[in-house]
Amino acid sequence: MRPPHEPDLELRDKLIRSLGAFREMLPGSFVERQRACGRPNCHCADGKRLHSQYQISVLMDGKPKTLNIPAALVEKVRQKIEMRRRFDAAAATICGVNLKRFLKEKEDHPA
Ligand SMILES: [Zn+2]
Repeated sequence: MRPPHEPDLELRDKLIRSLGAFREMLPGSFVERQRACGRPNCHCADGKRLHSQYQISVLMDGKPKTLNIPAALVEKVRQKIEMRRRFDAAAATICGVNLKRFLKEKEDHPA
């Protein structure tokens, strides 16, 4: 016999199975800054054609930190920070499903 179709539980299972894909997630937010490098002969010396510097803005031990991201790692780090957003969205959906189930379960157990 097939169990009754429960879309919420199917969604929850699907999300739970997807969480492993976020194991490399990174906290914080991705920041792009424009800066001059300070070399007088560089194209950035005109103050207009600046260099892009990518950073992670993150809390470490409760203190805000800004960490430079080496150029070779920028795309990877950007994706890992994005993973955290998707992880949080999945967790919020799972909690929403469970809260709905709790409210239903509560009806069967009058205080
Ligand atoms: Zn420069």
